[in-house]
Amino acid sequence: RTRVYKFGGKKTDGDGSMKPLLGGKGANLAEMSRIGIPVPPGFTITTEACTEYNELGRKTLKELLKDEVESAVLGIEQMMKSKFGDVENPLLLSVRSGARVSMPGMMDTVLNLGLNDEVVAGLALKTNNERFAWDSYRRFIQMYGSVVMGVKPHNKEDLDPFEEIIDALKEKRGIDLDTDFTVADLKDLVYDFKNVVLKQTGKPFPTDPWEQLWGGIFAVFNSWNTERARYYRLINKIPNDWGTAVNVQTMVFGNMGLSSATGVAFTRDAATGENVFNGEYLINAQGEDVVAGVRTPQQITKLGSERWAKLATISEEDRVEKYPSLQELMPELYDELNEYQKKLETHFKDMQDLEFTIQEGKLWILQTRNGKRTGAAMVKIAIDSLKEGLIDDKTALLRIDPNKLDELLHPIFDTKSLKKSHVIAQGLPASPGAATGQIVFFADEAKKYKNSILTRIETSPEDLEGMNIARGILTTRGGMTSHAAVVARGMGKCCVSGAGSIQIDYKKRIMRANGKEFHEGDWISLDGATGNVYEGKVPTIEPELSGEFADIMKLSDKYIKMQVRTNADTPKDARVARSFGAQGIGLTRTEHMFFEVDRIKAMREMILADTVKARKQALSQLLPMQRSDFEGIFEAMEGLPVTIRLLDPPLHEFVPHQLVTQKELAEDMHISLEAVKSKIAELEEFNPMMGHRGCRLGNTYPEITEMQTRAIIEAALDVKEKGIITTPEIMVPLVGTVHEFTEQEKIIRNTAKQVFKERNDSVDFLVGTMIEIPRAALVADKIAEHAEFFSFGTNDLTQTTYGYSRDDSGKFLPVYIEKGILKEDPFEVLDQEGVGQLVNIGIERGRKTKPKLKVGICGEHGGEPKSVAFCHNQKMNYVSCSPYRVPIARVAAAQAAV
Ligand code: ADP
Ligand code: MG
Ligand code: MG
Repeated sequence: RTRVYKFGGKKTDGDGSMKPLLGGKGANLAEMSRIGIPVPPGFTITTEACTEYNELGRKTLKELLKDEVESAVLGIEQMMKSKFGDVENPLLLSVRSGARVSMPGMMDTVLNLGLNDEVVAGLALKTNNERFAWDSYRRFIQMYGSVVMGVKPHNKEDLDPFEEIIDALKEKRGIDLDTDFTVADLKDLVYDFKNVVLKQTGKPFPTDPWEQLWGGIFAVFNSWNTERARYYRLINKIPNDWGTAVNVQTMVFGNMGLSSATGVAFTRDAATGENVFNGEYLINAQGEDVVAGVRTPQQITKLGSERWAKLATISEEDRVEKYPSLQELMPELYDELNEYQKKLETHFKDMQDLEFTIQEGKLWILQTRNGKRTGAAMVKIAIDSLKEGLIDDKTALLRIDPNKLDELLHPIFDTKSLKKSHVIAQGLPASPGAATGQIVFFADEAKKYKNSILTRIETSPEDLEGMNIARGILTTRGGMTSHAAVVARGMGKCCVSGAGSIQIDYKKRIMRANGKEFHEGDWISLDGATGNVYEGKVPTIEPELSGEFADIMKLSDKYIKMQVRTNADTPKDARVARSFGAQGIGLTRTEHMFFEVDRIKAMREMILADTVKARKQALSQLLPMQRSDFEGIFEAMEGLPVTIRLLDPPLHEFVPHQLVTQKELAEDMHISLEAVKSKIAELEEFNPMMGHRGCRLGNTYPEITEMQTRAIIEAALDVKEKGIITTPEIMVPLVGTVHEFTEQEKIIRNTAKQVFKERNDSVDFLVGTMIEIPRAALVADKIAEHAEFFSFGTNDLTQTTYGYSRDDSGKFLPVYIEKGILKEDPFEVLDQEGVGQLVNIGIERGRKTKPKLKVGICGEHGGEPKSVAFCHNQKMNYVSCSPYRVPIARVAAAQAAV
């Protein structure tokens, strides 16, 4: 089997379609070199080799790879007319990770590999640039030292030991920028760096280039399994068994002087989606400098530079003098870059995020990938690309990651309150959103507060988990392409980066802004759309949805086959869901209405009643309340279908468990405390989830079903008088046998008949059931003889199929997922393999009896894109989900249908 694929130069083995094997970076490097974009030549070691390495270990894998790697390096040497490890004419390499899908910054890269004390001298001679040679060498020791040899800061408050040395030397020499280091300084750094490595790891820095190369390759393989990479995969649902590819590539140098540079660019704005080429670069630097925010990066385009200067309140003279755009500084190279970016976007038909390096006036492209973007940018880019004719409407629809639509529905700052609030600093609008929270300075402390703002000089990949937990991210260094900015946009999290006027002191845990000290725990607010940082809390309001959002919904409607309903227990929820396009209610949980203060009393009296008479008495107090609830919902839905589920939870959930409340109840009911206590004790169950609940309640206390039916039917008649015709769908929960259902059906129909007689009027209504017990799915053919609709309650069906109690699963499910025993949480993503079979059987058997049987799903899965696609394939009539997931379900359902 082939484990090494070459790219660049005359022979390119791979292409853009080979992402699973070559990783995203490797496949796209190959593709770029195929379409004539200048890419430094190199080769890719496959992701399969990474998997083999994880199984077979280093020694075996090195044997398996050796010949191919050596001959590929020889190939590069011939092409570049230089030699790896050669003292006179050295070739330097980069070793880069690259998984199937991009995991920005999560895995490791080593640059400038192949240097040692002799080679560095040769490089200086060959390039006639001693400063460059030593700058590359100190960078190499720094990167290799931390990535491969594992040099780390001692405490989280400390900088990386190499950075500490750099800072100390800068201070000693009285300079600010690393570009101001002299050759002598750089030599000192190299010397000190090597000592740090030896002291911390006990090993001397390796001098043999081939040892360095293998060290780099295996370090990249290992970086697949670092904690941060695992965490990234967990939150992004990327399988652990994919592995990463390794790209070994000829170095090109952006640090050769003033005619060299490096940068990152986006073909469109990743924050807003606006169709403007943008990006950042640094003169005389290497790639990592831009992302790590070592120096303030400059803008690529003149327009971007002007916008940036305005935000940073830099005058036009200063801007042109100190921070000119690439467009102004190197117009010809800019034009060439601009041509490539257009070519790449047209070729890949999506927004690209690219890396480039200019070595002494020659432009090289080092990477391209479909750019990470915010939810808002995702929607705008999809619709714009459709309008521009870059993609067709099906592709535009498929470009939407339904889950990311969620971001667009989050609250934003109220502009009125913003005007009254106090701006303490201004940074770059790195990722939009509104975040209010308490300051924390370390990622592992983000969970200290419910709402925290991770406030850092800059973020690093180790901070991922804390960034995910925090409400928002604020950095004082770094630009729009800094680590914090890129990761925050991917997460759809509010981020303000490079707020340079803020000073952070990690050791004292304070930040200074606008002449004031802020401590950990202090409240601040970030506006990710403007880059403003505010003191204190700023109130938020519901967002308005953009025109492009509506366009996506329209596009979905064109292809969607299923209906999307909502789960709603109140008129307010119903209205919100309708504004998002819900076509009915798939589940109203009647019990939620009983928890309000004045109602719970009547409910408790009903539960504690000893006789049927007393129970009916208590129920009659509940009747008018339920009726008005239903009226409100019917009105809010204006005639759209509404499914109402009869009482479902075990009764003990409603009784008081605290002594004070028990006493109050005893007084209210004029019975002894002892009587209340013993009644409550009687209600206790060993396993309430499988106990006295669902239709088992209605079948033991038929008067509950009677009251609820009466409330539903009377409410429907009441709204009919106001001109709203509604067809209530009454749903019996937790049915396992036909008779459980037919008994309830009888009560419902008789009660309805009674009400119709009393009111001398009638409405249409349906009686159906939930399928949420495996037995119900198996006897669905019999149940369908009576039931007029099915709704799959996949929460309970998952509990009963797996035998997991959802409320107790927190103790083992996370471990199962970590260990790979389960791929996903089955309560989050419907288990198609097992639970899905029961759904399939239920539908098939139900429709054998009643071919037109209406079937839907309610429960969490109804708003989860993969599960929605499954429901589509099962030919369900609708899915039902919480109001804020309605747009997500609509897009997911439409995607399943294209
Ligand atoms: P990541 O996936 O974290 O972006 P990369 O492999 O892309 O890691 O590399 C990190 C940085 O090093 C990038 O800025 C890239 O441009 C730079 N780089 C990688 N390979 C080379 C090379 N052959 N020559 C010059 N710079 C390189
Ligand atoms: Mg990269
Ligand atoms: Mg249920």
